[in-house]
Amino acid sequence: MTVDNNSSGHAGKIIEWNPDGEPRVPEMPIISFIEGDGIGPDIWAAARPVFDAAVEQAYGGKRRIIWRELPAGEKAQKVFGLKTPLPEDTIKEIARYGVAIKGPLTTPVGGGYRSLNVALRQSLDLYACVRPVRHLPGIPSPLRHPERMNMVIFRENTEDVYAGVEWPAGSSEAGELLELINKLLTDAGSPLLSPECAVGIKPMSESGTRRLVRVAVLHALENGCKSVTLVHKGNIMKYTEGAFRDWGYALAREEFPGQTIAEKELQEKFGGRVPRGRIVIKDRIADAMFQQILLRPEEYDVIATPNLNGDYLSDAAAAQVGGLGMAPGGNLGDKCALFEATHGTAPKYAGQDKVNPGSLILSGVEMLRFLGWKEAAKMIVEALVKTIAQGVVTYDLARQIKGAREVKCSQFGAGVVENIKNAY
Ligand code: NAP
Repeated sequence: MTVDNNSSGHAGKIIEWNPDGEPRVPEMPIISFIEGDGIGPDIWAAARPVFDAAVEQAYGGKRRIIWRELPAGEKAQKVFGLKTPLPEDTIKEIARYGVAIKGPLTTPVGGGYRSLNVALRQSLDLYACVRPVRHLPGIPSPLRHPERMNMVIFRENTEDVYAGVEWPAGSSEAGELLELINKLLTDAGSPLLSPECAVGIKPMSESGTRRLVRVAVLHALENGCKSVTLVHKGNIMKYTEGAFRDWGYALAREEFPGQTIAEKELQEKFGGRVPRGRIVIKDRIADAMFQQILLRPEEYDVIATPNLNGDYLSDAAAAQVGGLGMAPGGNLGDKCALFEATHGTAPKYAGQDKVNPGSLILSGVEMLRFLGWKEAAKMIVEALVKTIAQGVVTYDLARQIKGAREVKCSQFGAGVVENIKNAY
């Protein structure tokens, strides 16, 4: 079931994908959206007019997005009367239309259904979660030099503990696994696990790592970045996170031999100087990386990291450049892309028209760049910065900017639209 929100009367076209993973974008592409739960409807209502205004302003009606709503989350059940919060048709339609944008979806802690977000990323094989962390002028920050932060985090999106392979304590499955594991541990002469344990599995593969690191290196090469840092916890989890590091270095060495250089080879081969045209591949232990992004963010411009590290790191990094209300993202695969903010449904603010739609607006900016509609993307960023410079901000930024005028989510969105219309 889909809801056609195409009030413009224009017939949209499907975005096709080349075999090399490049989208072929028509002038009037159909783009699916999911409003999301909690604050999702508020931020979507504020963000969509911003996208439409920028596209109209940039291309004078020659280009237009034909929006198509897909049901998911609480709305799928409460409004559309569907049985499941993630209908099969929704997944199929996202795959069919190739590019989509969504609000956050609720995942209960503990029992209940599996995370809808994780299910979407896995079913669509959206293996790279890409989260840019950039400081925009005028955005408050706890740092003295937030402008030094300018990185893109590539978080592996389909493996690791997010694969959802776990069993509760006391279940027969956990019991069977513990029995098998304890037999292997006995043979190895290692201490045994308590039979009371819950069990979760952390699968990580060479192919999963290589495709993630590949897109990170390609991004670095295409954007003139200086380095790609593999962030892992390989000192403790040697065969998963440690292997992530080794597979990452191997990928760079084998597929980009003339364009990359491992940090540890710099000294012995090039006297410590980075040869022209090469990016440095380095690695850092995840816990130390949290210190690095606070103290020396300018040394890191592209991060490639397993799923859980990436989740933690991107929220922490976002705090340095305005917080979750300003943190965009996108999930990329080889035949599909789904853009969404870093944050969740913030249920305590649901329906209050209060939160910052900047996160979703900037996710849309990433989507427009991905479509190649760079002029519209640029217009939105400029208008957003101008709105904040005018002292018009939502509660999250208002509490950090002296003298700012706190406005509602919808008013902030309207302010950005106004600045787009007045810009040229
Ligand atoms: P959250 O929804 O990200 O919210 C945590 C806090 O971040 C909020 O209380 C608020 O901080 C701030 N925040 C989030 N979005 C904001 C915005 N647009 N503007 C301003 N501030 C914003 O995290 P959570 O409360 O832990 O998670 C709630 C639900 O979301 C859970 O069910 C979780 O599973 C789900 N989730 C979904 C996704 C997704 O759909 N991709 C991602 C993460 C979490 P203050 O309290 O300081 O104002």
